[in-house]
Amino acid sequence: MAWLHDWPKMRDVLDKERVDMIFRGYSGLCLESYLGRLDGDIYIKDWHLNRKDALATVDSQGNINLNVSADADMYSWAYAIGHCLLHLAFGHFDRQNMPDAGNGINIRVWNKACDICVDRVLAEMELGLSLHPDIEETYGTQLTDEKAIYEQLLKLGDDGSGQEYGTNIDGEMDMIGLEHPLEYGEGESNRFTETYVREKEREKERIKRRRETIGR
Ligand SMILES: [Zn+2]
Repeated sequence: MAWLHDWPKMRDVLDKERVDMIFRGYSGLCLESYLGRLDGDIYIKDWHLNRKDALATVDSQGNINLNVSADADMYSWAYAIGHCLLHLAFGHFDRQNMPDAGNGINIRVWNKACDICVDRVLAEMELGLSLHPDIEETYGTQLTDEKAIYEQLLKLGDDGSGQEYGTNIDGEMDMIGLEHPLEYGEGESNRFTETYVREKEREKERIKRRRETIGR
């Protein structure tokens, strides 16, 4: 489950109104979608991300750090949390999911390709969460295949210097630890991806049952 750590405690040590805005975004996300049931450890921070336009970063261990100084409404917080959870859920840190198994890839372009993919998925969920409605016009089709997007970005001469579709400041990657892709040994697997597959399936069942009930 996506867990917002130390929320009440943070109200006492950080700006209460800003902390509450984060909580509203988090609870909205949990109520409105299955994203809150994905795995991730969410922390409210007043350090590490010190520029106001940086919303969040996610690391390969599953920690999502939110920047309490950011001027964001609850919808932007819901987007930022959902965005970071999906990086984990889709296994974007895993070597096996990267182009050329991560060998010699441009991690900045990979981060951007993953951002574009995540943004499209959030847009398709119709939660009003996409922050970048222009992505489809700019990059065309196949926007849910990270590797295809990566290749397309390279063809377009993109060097990843702009990170405008992520949740960090423009120019800084929002996925921390990409330089050390995750590998799994015999019998090991990505728990974030497993939870995603399970919850997506449950969500499908829920929607099916709801439709059957309405149809009756
Ligand atoms: Zn991102």
